[in-house]
Amino acid sequence: MAGPTVRDSIVRRWPAAIFRTMPPLNRRQTVTVRVGQVPVGSAHPIVVQSMTNTDTADVAGTIRQVAALARAGSQLVRVTVNNDEAAAAVPAIVEGLAAQGVTVPIIGDFHYNGHLLLTRYPATAQALAKYRINPGNVGGKRADENFRSIIEVALRNEKPVRIGVNWGSLDQILLTELMDANARSAAPRDARDVMMEAMLESALRSAALAEQIGMPHDRIILSAKVSGVQDLVDVYRLLAGRCDYPFHLGLTEAGMGMKGIVASAAGLSILLQEGIGDTIRVSLTPKPGGDRTEEVLVAQQILQSLGIRSFAPQVTACPGCGRTTSTFFQQMAEDIQGYLREQMPSWREKYPGVEELKLAVMGCVVNGPGESKHANIGISLPGTFEEPKAPVYVDGRLFVTLKGDAIVAEFLKILDEYVESRYGAGGVAAGVGSPH
Ligand code: SF4
Repeated sequence: MAGPTVRDSIVRRWPAAIFRTMPPLNRRQTVTVRVGQVPVGSAHPIVVQSMTNTDTADVAGTIRQVAALARAGSQLVRVTVNNDEAAAAVPAIVEGLAAQGVTVPIIGDFHYNGHLLLTRYPATAQALAKYRINPGNVGGKRADENFRSIIEVALRNEKPVRIGVNWGSLDQILLTELMDANARSAAPRDARDVMMEAMLESALRSAALAEQIGMPHDRIILSAKVSGVQDLVDVYRLLAGRCDYPFHLGLTEAGMGMKGIVASAAGLSILLQEGIGDTIRVSLTPKPGGDRTEEVLVAQQILQSLGIRSFAPQVTACPGCGRTTSTFFQQMAEDIQGYLREQMPSWREKYPGVEELKLAVMGCVVNGPGESKHANIGISLPGTFEEPKAPVYVDGRLFVTLKGDAIVAEFLKILDEYVESRYGAGGVAAGVGSPH
């Protein structure tokens, strides 16, 4: 007699103990700023964004990279607008993307000459969804005048701005003013504190000036980027207590590879867990010829690891140890991860909610069955001296025990059936509340 089907084994209500991630974040309350069609603020999911590293004047190359970033899940993409050629290229980039069905809002990053470029290229000012202004780089003694010009262009085009302070390019006049005042005070603070204060002042004074010129309060996003994790945490905590503008969060110059990923995860996680941060960017330095979309995937993974948002099914795999000398389970975890990556573009369309799926691939009996039971589908492979069989669990219950050479193929078949049965049209997840 045929055994139970995958569909029969699916738990019809989400078992809270298995799927609980974290309580809803207690977000710092902010106004909502609309960047194109994307709302940014505490009433909305935290937005993942990225930045291109192509020459913006290279229209075809920039379109290719923006499209790749958007397909990877970047909800906003920033391009540098550093000279006339770049400014002139922006409308063609936005049109070219639209022709491909890519409608991700494009943000212009301006330094030194933003007031000139935005005035000289009105079609660019219109095509961009937001302007990033660095108050430290708007023009020294004429900073206020240049800043005013940018804000006036933003007002004419009804665009929001990000006032993005960076300690690598901090407003030197303001910093000197605060350092001098500190030196004269009876109890001088240390230089780091004054630097922090200068960043906050720069961001907040610029925002106040923008509002004085006429910028609505809900069209301003702030950022205060530094390259050290503890500095990042301190500066954003301080800023959070002083305003209700949404924050763009990220380490500046996070670095290459593992260092950049770990530092970004460490810094962002502390702040996100405290409810601080409304849009994030992970500023990784790619290897020459490396894939720019990595920064999007890392940002998504940070949010998903914290249980804040889900983007793709997660595979839990044990690290392996002396109990399993075979690399079979590592290979299997890798194969499943690859299979999920291949399927996700179509699954995302066909199976709403599939990004919350959890899989476990475990190396032996010690933690295998236990961890497998905490996943939607889990498999516990045989360790070195264990019987050559692999129990598969569906929603916490033993479903079948696989043996032989076709374990991976059979497991993927169970996975397909599970996805169809739970997330497909008429699937058992229909009408079932999400665990998050
Ligand atoms: S589940 Fe088994 S093989 Fe994997 S790390 Fe734990 S003891 Fe080692």
